[in-house]
Amino acid sequence: MSRFDAIREECCEGNRRLPGAGLVDLTFGNLSVLDPDAGVFAIKPSGVEYGKLTPADMVIVDMDGRVVEGSLRPSSDTATHRRLFLAFAGIRSVVHTHSRSAVAFAQAGLEIPCLGTTHCDDFYGPVPVTRAMTQEEVGGDYEWETGNVIVERLAGISPLDVPAILVRSHGPFAWGVSANKAVEIAQALEIIAEMALKTLVLNPGTSPVPPHLLEKHFRRKHGSSASYGQA
Ligand SMILES: [Zn+2]
Repeated sequence: MSRFDAIREECCEGNRRLPGAGLVDLTFGNLSVLDPDAGVFAIKPSGVEYGKLTPADMVIVDMDGRVVEGSLRPSSDTATHRRLFLAFAGIRSVVHTHSRSAVAFAQAGLEIPCLGTTHCDDFYGPVPVTRAMTQEEVGGDYEWETGNVIVERLAGISPLDVPAILVRSHGPFAWGVSANKAVEIAQALEIIAEMALKTLVLNPGTSPVPPHLLEKHFRRKHGSSASYGQA
C-alpha cells in the first residue's frame, strides 16, 4: 500500500484506455495524474505496452522532477507534463498522443480552426499550435522546453477553455480535471481534427463559426449557465 495508490490506479486506467480510444499507435502516448495536495504525479513508465500496465508500474514524480516511488523509468515526456502541472492551476491530468489527424495539423504547422459546433462543445476557439523550437531548445532540456513553448503559446488563454494544444512538428497534448476527462478531450481533439481536415479538403475556404455560435455551444457545457446533460 502506498499513499499514492489512488493516482496510480487512475493513471494506469487512463493509459490503458488510450489504444482502445484510437489515440495511440505502438507506444506513442502517455498520461499522467496529479495529486495536488501531495505535490506529486503518477505517470506511465517509458516504453511499456499498454495492455501490460499495472498500477504498480506507474512512476511517482515530484514537482522537482525526482522519482519518489517506482522501479521503472518514467515516460520520456515527463518534464513536459511537469511543466504543464506547474503552469496550469486546476488541471489534474495531462495526456500526450500522436493521434493521426491532430498530428497532421501539428506537422503542417496549422492551428485547428473552429469550423463547427462539435469543436465549440469542448474548445473555446481554435486549438493553437506552438512556434518552432530553436536548436538550443531542442538540444537542451528538450521535454521541459516543449512544456515552455506550450505555456508561452497559451499565455492569456484559460487552459480549461482551450484544453489542448498542438506542438509543432510533433503532436497534441490535452488535459483535464481527471484522467477520464483528459482522455475524453484527447478523443474530441482527434475527432475535430479529422472533421476539420475533411472540411478543408471539400472547401479550403471554409470560414470559422461566428462568435455567437461558438459562445452558445461552449457555454451550454461549461460555466455557471451550462445546461447540457442531467447534472
Ligand atoms: Zn510525442
